[in-house]
Order: sequence, then C-alpha cells, then structure tokens
Amino acid sequence: IPYHPANSRYENMSYRRTGNSGLLLPEISLGLWHNFGHNADFTSARKILRQAFDLGITHFDLANNYGPPYGSAEETFGRIMKKDFEMYRDELIISTKAGWDMWPGPYGNFGSKKYLIASLDQSLKRMGLDYVDIFYHHRPDPDTPLEETMGALDQIVKQGKALYVGISQYSAEDTLKASKILRSLGTPCLIHQPRYSMMDRWAEGGLLDTLENEGIGAIAFSPLEQGILTNKYLKGIPEDSRIAKDGRYIQEDKITPKLISKIEALNNLALKRDQSLAQMAISWLLKDTRITSVLVGVSKASQLKDNVGALLNTNFSSEEIQAIDKILEK
Ligand code: NDP
Repeated sequence: IPYHPANSRYENMSYRRTGNSGLLLPEISLGLWHNFGHNADFTSARKILRQAFDLGITHFDLANNYGPPYGSAEETFGRIMKKDFEMYRDELIISTKAGWDMWPGPYGNFGSKKYLIASLDQSLKRMGLDYVDIFYHHRPDPDTPLEETMGALDQIVKQGKALYVGISQYSAEDTLKASKILRSLGTPCLIHQPRYSMMDRWAEGGLLDTLENEGIGAIAFSPLEQGILTNKYLKGIPEDSRIAKDGRYIQEDKITPKLISKIEALNNLALKRDQSLAQMAISWLLKDTRITSVLVGVSKASQLKDNVGALLNTNFSSEEIQAIDKILEK
C-alpha cells in the first residue's frame, strides 16, 4: 500500500534547537539499534517508521553496526526509505555512526581516518543515500590522536557526505578537546549522544555543563533503560520483550526483586501524574532544556504512540523530582 504521511504530522510534535546550530530536532527521536536487523519483521519495521513520521518524528538514528547482522538495520532502513520516504528526504534528519567493531582486520574499528571514511561510504550505499544529516564518532578511541578523528569528521562534511557531525560516549574532558579541534577546523560539533535516563545520571557529572558551554546539543540514548523504565517487566518477562527475544545487551538477571520494587514505586508516581512510566521517564529528561531530544527505541508502533504522549506533561514539581531521586537512590 503506498504511504501517505499524516497531514497532521507537525501539529503535536515540538522541535528544539540543537545547541547553537540552525538545526531543530524533534523532542522524541527514533533509534534503529534493535528491531530493524535481518532478524526483525520487515512489515513491523516499516510500520514503526511510518508511525514515527506521522507523529512528527523527523529524526531517525542509525549506526554502521546496527542489526544483527552488522549493517542490516541500514539496509532495512534503505529499503523502507526507497519505498516510503524518498519524496520526504528533505523533511528527515538521518544519522549514522562508526566507532565500534564493524569488519575484520585493523581498519574496521575505533577512530582512524581510514575506518571512518570507509565506513560512512558503506553506510551511504546500504541506505541508498547521497549524504547523512549527522555523522557521529560512536565512542572515544584512546589510541588515535583526536586531531585525526576530528579531521576525518571535518573532511566528511567538506566532502558533502554529512551535513553535521557529532560524538557519542565521550567524557566531558574529551568532548571539550574535540569541540575545540572541530571549531578550529570550521566544522563545529553539533551534538553529543550520551546514555542518559533517571537510572543513569552519568551525564550530569560534568558532561551536560560542557555541552551547554560549548553550544553543543544533547540527545539521550536508552532513556527507558532498554525497557526497564516501563511497566512491561512488572509481572515477569513477557515473551515479546527485549530480554526474552534478544539478550545481547540486557539479560533476565537484571530484573531483581529490588529493581522491581523501584519500578513499581516509579510506576505509581507516573500514574498519579496521569502518565505511563515510559512517558514519565521521557518527560523527566525533557524537563532539562539542555536535552535537545530523547532517543527512544521501540519494538512496536504502538509503543511510539505511548512515548509521544510524554510531551503532554513535561513539568515536574520539586516534590516529584525528590520522590523519584529517593526511589532510585536506595
Ligand atoms: P530505550 O531505552 O528507549 O529502550 C527501547 C525498548 O524499550 C524498546 O525496544 C521496547 O522494548 C521498550 N519500550 C519502548 N517504549 C515502550 C513503551 N511505551 N512501553 C513499553 N516498552 C517500551 O532505548 P534503546 O536502548 O533502544 O536505545 C534507543 C536508541 O539509542 C537506539 O536505537 C540507538 O539509536 C541509540 N543508542 C545509541 C548508543 C550509542 O552508543 N550512541 C547505544 C545504545 C543506543 P521491547 O523490545 O521489550 O518491547
């Protein structure tokens, strides 16, 4: 069936400026880390992307190694792009990354210029695109000079293969260094992609301040802790959950009785706010104006609809903030 995006797609989404740049991102973005590989159902993947765009989610986040197997999420995305979104390329912000292991030998990992340039060329082929909007270095490389990695990002932009560049998982200190190098090259760092959720506060220990000072945006990944910050694990491990289906990055032993009691308490607090727990976890991140976008993953289109409902209430009283901190500190 041909796809006609909802005419109402820009009515309910809000867009935030990414740092000091000209680029606006939707408050909720969609990541294709899971549920888009060759192991995933193509029809469902297509439905998720259509649902996203219909809701005003204009930003899709990928990486060279998303799948499994590596590269397959970009391939699936490329197929759907061609079928459904070709006419809407200028309404979309598509990102990809390189930095983790991708192909055998010394040139398929970390942060050399050799790896980054080759990887982006491969990604563009898999997705059937001429350029990506954002290209990221996916994680810091302790052995490659930062000048080389940032130089590769700058070259990619100057060649027109990416419009903007970003970094992921860099410490506050390395972010500052990277930002200075990029600025000196004339390609400012657009955005940082840290892991950030109410259960993982690492970014609060200096990174968010650095990003604000440097005029760099922030997009928070795994905002729902891969599904833990939802009501799905309250009554056991559902068969269609990430823990039951995948288990590469999250396992059953993570769901301890202690964790369940915290989730139950958070869930009750969310209900009092007229939100699902997933919604509360997302709005908790959006209350901070330094966060440009919250990068969720979903296994079903319906989850995306639930998540976008978070935008209806992003205010928290100081009592609610304290209650959340108290539940999670124990
Ligand atoms: P989340 O924390 O949002 O977890 C997503 C999972 O939560 C879904 O697959 C689904 O799990 C569950 N879920 C989502 N919404 C709901 C809902 N409303 N109700 C119930 N369950 C829900 O994010 P991810 O860990 O998937 O990461 C998001 C994106 O961040 C990735 O796709 C990727 O783009 C990026 N990322 C970047 C990294 C980096 O190093 N830069 C690393 C990791 C991710 P289920 O399958 O159980 O239904």
